[in-house]
Amino acid sequence: WDMSSSQWLKRDREVVAQSPYAPPLVLERGRGCELWDVDGRRFLDFEAGQFCMNTGHSHPSVTEAISRQATVLMQIGNRFTTPARIQLAERLAALAPDPLGVTFFCSTGSEANETALRIAKLVTGRFEVVALARGYHGRTASAYGLSSATRRMRRGAGPQMPGIVHIDTPYAYRCPFACGTCDQRCWRHSVEMIDRASSGEPAAVIVEFIQGAGGIIPVPADWAREVRRFCDERGALLIADEALTGLGRTGRWFAFEHTEVVPDIVVTSKALGGGVPAAAVITSREIAAAALAKGFVQSASHQGDPFQCAVALANLDVMETEDLPGNAERMGRRLMDGLRELTARHRLAGDARGIGLIAGLEIVDSDKDGGGETPELAAAVSVACLERGLIVGGLRPGIREGNTLRLAPPLTVSAQEIDEALTILDSALTDVAA
Ligand code: PMP
Repeated sequence: WDMSSSQWLKRDREVVAQSPYAPPLVLERGRGCELWDVDGRRFLDFEAGQFCMNTGHSHPSVTEAISRQATVLMQIGNRFTTPARIQLAERLAALAPDPLGVTFFCSTGSEANETALRIAKLVTGRFEVVALARGYHGRTASAYGLSSATRRMRRGAGPQMPGIVHIDTPYAYRCPFACGTCDQRCWRHSVEMIDRASSGEPAAVIVEFIQGAGGIIPVPADWAREVRRFCDERGALLIADEALTGLGRTGRWFAFEHTEVVPDIVVTSKALGGGVPAAAVITSREIAAAALAKGFVQSASHQGDPFQCAVALANLDVMETEDLPGNAERMGRRLMDGLRELTARHRLAGDARGIGLIAGLEIVDSDKDGGGETPELAAAVSVACLERGLIVGGLRPGIREGNTLRLAPPLTVSAQEIDEALTILDSALTDVAA
């Protein structure tokens, strides 16, 4: 390009509605975990293209599938099937544990959550839905109402979907119930909230097994078991929103596999299409049949398109042949060891948590035991990282909410890249503390 970042950014501000989250970068190309901007500066992408690029930027097998399928067949309308769609659904059925074996295709996480909710409501004949505080499920109408990851996201939106009950997140680091000694007191409190605020018989409980936007909060296995039991006793469906955590990121294909719990409906999106929008709602044969028998129709312009499915298949092939879940586990351990070492040494580093390659580093002022939330400090650390060539997720300058940096590189990340990111974080923490 014969134009610099600053010239591009000036043009951008004139014609593109600006996100308050936007860092001042104009990116041009990527490869694996690396991105380059138009000025030729290199960045490590520890946000993996907003968690979409599990196989890394421009993986040769994925780009080959993209160009091959583009010359063969892109889109045929959702009434028709193709070998690619059938094979992708078979592959997802093989990856998900029994009885999850039937897929409804869509394009985005929000759309997939809407689909999951519609299925749950239709099958149960109920309308109330339980969601977690600090959760994020998307920006379409119902998903929006279920989300509360940021305080101001619903500003100006007006009334939300009726029947939503928000319960506490089992957030060990900031547990008001002295977590660890409480014998699931937070869950019992949540059941009281459900019974006070609703009929007590919801259509569904929707859970991110690791909350993403809310601050990388894995739900404890014991808590997940209580939720499963609650759903079984009350006749509600358990929906796992794995938009962010699915497809190998945690070292397993799905985050719920770190617990004993199997949900009734699983939503997966982002990483499925390797950069191409694709999402899947996976459920049991029984639930799918019940929904269809009651007249459920999934009908969108982009839903299991040959292009989406062929690319997703190539993308899943890469994950399997390169054992990316295995690499996520190994590199995740290296990343977590490094983050724990930083929390031991740095005043501002409060808590390191996560599973596999979805890690959070909570930034605090001085009280390391779940003290004051310090979004300004956290944003300052993320800016200091960016200046040193590391893109981390979750916090941007000017956004005064949340204080957990999200670290989630492509699953192809190398040990050297993990170490480089940790070195940058170390220096950023030192700089901001000074
Ligand atoms: N669910 C979760 C857990 C998410 O993190 C997101 C996106 N960040 C969504 C749903 C919404 O997905 P999309 O942006 O593709 O609509």
